[in-house]
Amino acid sequence: MSDGRAAKRVAKFIKPLRVKPGSTVDLTEDYDPRYKAGVKKRDGVELLRTGVSLLADYQARLAAQDTYGVLLCLQAIDAGGKDGTIRHVMSGVNPQGVRVSGFKVPSAEELDHDYLWRYAQRLPSRGEIGIFNRSHYEEVLVVRVHPENLDRQKLPEEAKGPDVWQRRYREINDWERYLTDNGIKVVKVFLNLSEEEQRQRFLKRIDRPEKNWKFSAADVREREHWDDYLEAFSEMLSATSTPWAPWYVVPADRKWFARICAAAVLAHTLIGIDPQYPSLDGQAREELLDARRGLEAEAP
Ligand code: AMP
Ligand code: MG
Repeated sequence: MSDGRAAKRVAKFIKPLRVKPGSTVDLTEDYDPRYKAGVKKRDGVELLRTGVSLLADYQARLAAQDTYGVLLCLQAIDAGGKDGTIRHVMSGVNPQGVRVSGFKVPSAEELDHDYLWRYAQRLPSRGEIGIFNRSHYEEVLVVRVHPENLDRQKLPEEAKGPDVWQRRYREINDWERYLTDNGIKVVKVFLNLSEEEQRQRFLKRIDRPEKNWKFSAADVREREHWDDYLEAFSEMLSATSTPWAPWYVVPADRKWFARICAAAVLAHTLIGIDPQYPSLDGQAREELLDARRGLEAEAP
């Protein structure tokens, strides 16, 4: 397939997943976690393979050009499939050009800084693809659903008012705009899992010894906050899908389909950047040819 055709196909594929900037999202009815765009699993495997090799090619050019960086933010409810998505989508790329960062409960040192500090420290450099496994969006998700997290953040009184979430949305949008304007493109994927599929995945984590480590009793307690999370996710998607960094809601009940979508969203961003291998100017070219002649002269 030609590059142009592949680009069009990817763009068309992800369009229904994009949250239109300015629109209002209600996850209880707007996005179906089981949607699969009519793709059959058998064809899906082939599609993912194509996507992965496309990514590998673009990543090599991104690194060589050394001008743009890409930040992929992955958010999901527990068992949404973030780890597996990262493993599969990045399976073909050069590990040297990728940096994956996971974010857990903040440390004492992190709490001693402004809330975006720890995320800023792990941003990709130019030429790199950075992946956030959980991201700065936790600051308006888990922190909102469990406000005791906000209390731990040592904020001044005036920064803790009822408008704190609206303010954070604005600050996050501004931060992402700043990054985008300076060559770090921000891509955001929300893995949208249904409550029933989460139940099934938790059961597997309990029943299969090799999956036990992924489960904690706290995960089931967190499930009791399902509706609060859905509301927090819905508001976050509505407020922070921007023209410079839109959200993509990826149906996550079928792992194989979610992976194709995530790969396509990332590919779309790289296609947009269209990184090129640097070409040499006249003098550099001359130097190269000179070096070649020298090496040839050494021939035994
Ligand atoms: P896991 O992804 O299973 O390793 O769990 C990481 C845990 O860290 C989850 O329970 C998150 O809710 C929690 N976490 C991540 N970011 C934050 C944050 N900014 N504040 C509080 N808890 C967080
Ligand atoms: Mg966990």
